[in-house]
Amino acid sequence: MRREEVLHLLEEAGAVRQGHFELSSGRHSGHYIQCALVLQHPQHAEKLGRALAAEFHDLAIGCVASPALGGILLGYEVARALGVRSVFVERDASGQMALRRGFQFAPEERVLVVEDVWTTGGSTRETIGVVEQEGACVVAAGALIDRSGGHLELPVRAEALLEMNVPSYEPEDCPLCHAGSVAVRPGSRFLRATH
Ligand SMILES: [Zn+2]
Repeated sequence: MRREEVLHLLEEAGAVRQGHFELSSGRHSGHYIQCALVLQHPQHAEKLGRALAAEFHDLAIGCVASPALGGILLGYEVARALGVRSVFVERDASGQMALRRGFQFAPEERVLVVEDVWTTGGSTRETIGVVEQEGACVVAAGALIDRSGGHLELPVRAEALLEMNVPSYEPEDCPLCHAGSVAVRPGSRFLRATH
């Protein structure tokens, strides 16, 4: 799948939003990519999942693991394309990422970690930590979008369908904050709106 096709799907779904946002990493940005708006269309999710899965077909993946909530839909579609299971990790009561709901890995199982967007890759790193703690082996990581601007540091092979160079800032360095506007947290706002 070509980069332009991915970008077109995102834009068509209104997933590329402009404003002043606090990302889940804590960084601020004038752009937010709401992947849920493209993934709400099962035919798009399936197509994107198949395209991302194709990057890893040579790795004998045994299971896909994703961080909740953002990674779950895409992880599921990647797993469908690879013909393997899809599990997710989520925060427990103490705020730590954990494998719950009876999900398990086989010893040394080869796991692919899938997330929707990498800004710093923090959730993917946490997910890798949980999977390895559970006795499996993370062999690669994939995302729909890498917006890290080349600063992604992951301990495994990493592939994204689309690289977007949109700046993000530590809050104290954010030019939008300095101009007097207040950042909103789009993830939680959209999440609440669905309940
Ligand atoms: Zn700001």
